[in-house]
Amino acid sequence: MPVDLSKLKPTIGLEIHAELATKTKMFCSSRNDPDEKRPNVNVCPVCLAHPGTLPVINREAVRQVLRVGLAVGGAIADFTQFDRKSYFYPDIPKGYQISQYQYPLVRGGTVAQVALTRIHLEEDTGSLSHDDQTGESLIDFNRAGVPLLELVTEPVIESGSQAAAMARDFQLLLRYLGASYANMEKGEMRVEANISLGLGTKVEIKNLNSFQSVEKAIAYEIERQTLARERGEIVMQETRGWDEVKEVTFSQRQKESAHDYRYFPEPDLPPLKINEVAEWRDLAATLPELPWTKRERYLGYGFKPDEAEIYVTNFALANLFEQTDRELGADNSSRKLIGNYLTTDLWGQIKDRVDSVEKLSKIRPADLAAVVKMAANGKISSRGAKNLITLLVVGKTDAEALASSEGLWQKSDETELAKFVDQVLVEHPAVVADYRAGKMSALQFLVGQAMKLSAGSANPQALAKLLRTALDGT
Ligand code: MN
Repeated sequence: MPVDLSKLKPTIGLEIHAELATKTKMFCSSRNDPDEKRPNVNVCPVCLAHPGTLPVINREAVRQVLRVGLAVGGAIADFTQFDRKSYFYPDIPKGYQISQYQYPLVRGGTVAQVALTRIHLEEDTGSLSHDDQTGESLIDFNRAGVPLLELVTEPVIESGSQAAAMARDFQLLLRYLGASYANMEKGEMRVEANISLGLGTKVEIKNLNSFQSVEKAIAYEIERQTLARERGEIVMQETRGWDEVKEVTFSQRQKESAHDYRYFPEPDLPPLKINEVAEWRDLAATLPELPWTKRERYLGYGFKPDEAEIYVTNFALANLFEQTDRELGADNSSRKLIGNYLTTDLWGQIKDRVDSVEKLSKIRPADLAAVVKMAANGKISSRGAKNLITLLVVGKTDAEALASSEGLWQKSDETELAKFVDQVLVEHPAVVADYRAGKMSALQFLVGQAMKLSAGSANPQALAKLLRTALDGT
């Protein structure tokens, strides 16, 4: 009997690992420094798994996971414990990873409308590198024992784009909380996806190192499984990798199931009662504004979703916006004006620079507010405002003095503008006749000519008014 493919809705769950930005490792006092380039520098007998050493829980790592749990609206465990997850691999010299199985720190919660199963704490492995020339494998234990948060979603995601959107919001959250740098290209945040069609076999894709890979690999895998089913083939339960160049998933290994890991409570660590530790209580008060709250706030200012997102993802730009907003009295019409200059001109000039944050932090909100005000009052043109912003970006200050030194003040003085108006009327009798015959666009032409005569210094609104008076009045 043919399979009814319309019933095969994709069911996707994500597992996200994130290295926490703590000073020291999860169970020892070795430094946790993701930027250390020299191998095997941040190591000690504990994270090298020497016999007889004992782990000690990093309180700050627990605290960070609890804050993440509160931010996603999850339920914080009152009782928690660590477990041993046994497996053999050279990057895990103990022969087991200390993780959490039955009693995770957090259960439930949601990110980007995706329901979460749990968030727990574990330790990272060392990193292996293979030299294809010599056939040698090298191991670096700097990363071994780094605190690792693991988030597991319910299998409720239906597409690659939805998965990528969820992962994006979670990365933002980790950064807002200062819990992790969460750079995917550095492996500080790693995404795995479980995908099945209908209630079919679950396939896991590992090594998704960018949001684009998350989206594309899932889309590819849905397609691959659909075609396999159409051909009557069996979809194997397995772990697959993602080839970023060929944009295909490929078989890596048959998937272990939980009982292969032989989980059991870690005998070297005490079970924890969260409420008994002062620094783990009342953490809700330590949460900053969350990314989704900030997004709603900026949408409420009247920004389009892609404009709002620029502020949500760039702290320094949002900071500058908010300080300038305060200078201008915090209403939506001035917000629109600030936004026009910030997200187009200013951000356009610096977004690709490595020092964009530094540049933004040097721009004085009072100067930016002055530019917006001068442009809104017609004292400078929008072209002039753009020029001033370019000067502020390169570190110049005092917007009004700059407007003077750059000759950007628009002339609005009627006696001064009258001579341009008179000259234009004399030089273009045919256009004047057109205007009087009812051709309204002729006025625009005359304003343009008068602007030219003023070398761009005239206020176009003031010119238009004078021209209309001269033309209609005679
Ligand atoms: Mn894990």
